[in-house]
Amino acid sequence: MPLLLLLLLYLACLPTSWPDPPFGWSDPDSHGVLWASLLSLSVMSLVVLGAAFISQRTRRQLLLDPSRRDAILRTYSRSRLIHLLSLFLLFGLALYVLGWGWAVRRFCSVGEWVLPGAEFVVLSPIVLGLVLSWCFFYDAERAFHDTAHPLLNLRAYWSRWGYVSFHLRQYLALVFVPVFLLVVMLGILRTWPGEFDSGWLQLSVPLILVVMIAVLPWILRLVLGLRTLPAGELRDRLQAVARRLRFRCSDIMLWNTHNGVANALVVGIVPWLRYVVLSDRLLGELTPEEVEAVFGHEAGHVKHQHMPYYLTFFFLSMAALVGGLQLVMVHVFDMTPKLEGEDHLFIPLFVGSLGAYIFLVFGFLSRRCERQADLYGCRAVSCGRSDCTSHDEVDLTAPSRNLCPTGIQTFIQALERVAALNGISRSRPGFLQSWQHSTIDRRVRFLQEVAADPTVEKRFQRRVGLVKWVLLLGLVLLLGLVQMVPPKRPPNQARMPADARVESPTPRNAE
Ligand SMILES: [Zn+2]
Ligand SMILES: [Zn+2]
Repeated sequence: MPLLLLLLLYLACLPTSWPDPPFGWSDPDSHGVLWASLLSLSVMSLVVLGAAFISQRTRRQLLLDPSRRDAILRTYSRSRLIHLLSLFLLFGLALYVLGWGWAVRRFCSVGEWVLPGAEFVVLSPIVLGLVLSWCFFYDAERAFHDTAHPLLNLRAYWSRWGYVSFHLRQYLALVFVPVFLLVVMLGILRTWPGEFDSGWLQLSVPLILVVMIAVLPWILRLVLGLRTLPAGELRDRLQAVARRLRFRCSDIMLWNTHNGVANALVVGIVPWLRYVVLSDRLLGELTPEEVEAVFGHEAGHVKHQHMPYYLTFFFLSMAALVGGLQLVMVHVFDMTPKLEGEDHLFIPLFVGSLGAYIFLVFGFLSRRCERQADLYGCRAVSCGRSDCTSHDEVDLTAPSRNLCPTGIQTFIQALERVAALNGISRSRPGFLQSWQHSTIDRRVRFLQEVAADPTVEKRFQRRVGLVKWVLLLGLVLLLGLVQMVPPKRPPNQARMPADARVESPTPRNAE
């Protein structure tokens, strides 16, 4: 979800001109900026009202009949998905149709020069809509917390502000910091436009991206307020697991979530700046063996090189998608696709296909990678003996290549407990919770199959390896094909030399 929001915000930052507002508001005498802003903001406030309605309805239903908790949770997850999509759609509507983008350009410009940071104003309605919606969703979330299994709820739920600021911090790290950097860069480009042609700034764009990805662990540490996991038995155990798996990370971090979230993650591409992050609730409620299994899952993501793969995959996909769409627009619709300029169809088309692509293709890929990490988590707590029945007498210090039934069972318990702690339905958790990770039910069933027949794992790993290579090669092939199709010459442009055409497949007239 943060990923999708990040892409959307990036795209909303890029255009330098927006469609005119409706009702002739572009007329200088009509106070169009005021009307367009008012209309856009009222449309966005509908989303917040929607959040209030969903939340209050859910809370009422839960208080009336707590035994229907699972069914109510399912409806609530579905409503949250619809709410999120409405937020995106209405923001697009405000930007493109109701004149919000146009209005911001007007009041944030001095002559032709758009003020640095104008993008923040462009994005403000969606950020405000999101934050205000969280304020209202608090009531429903709190009701779910209060009606959960009594054994899981020894602690009081956090305050509304605690809940909102917790979400805000996560988004700050994953979405707002990268957007901030982009906006600063765009401001620099606008203020000193000549510098971009000189080359050094062009070079700095990918450089900034690489540096940002590398220092993401620091950003997360700062924004989420992560602390080093204190020295003690658990830390020693996890370090022993890391040694056994030959997994390197610079630190193991504790994430204070006010006991709200049971979660773990790994962040960092390079071993000397890589954290495994474990939340307080996870450590508080799982047994040490289960924590080891979760730690193993995170190590699995690194061992299987998932992060570098995802980055390559995204880079190639974006390039292929942009190239493909441009070709379709030029050759099928006879239009000139540009990010800036008069043609406003390109960005909505791009956002739509990108969203669909991420959910379908990336979702498919990500679910397979999660299973690989699950298997690695089992390995972290396995002794390797296929006839093993318990680890009471077993010393788990020797590295083992094979899984054992006890290890698989430990991992399954950890998985189920994390789902229960976070209030996720086992088999029908709702789309937002399962498109990336699959359902707990399916993950557990797969691990049980592996426990019953070890060859299942070998076949699975082979198949995933194949899928990954086919996807990458397919994308490279697609990119090559896109580059090879000759661009249609725009009618008003002089003929380009043949070699220039090969180098620049994007027709850029009007320049
Ligand atoms: Zn994972
Ligand atoms: Zn064992």
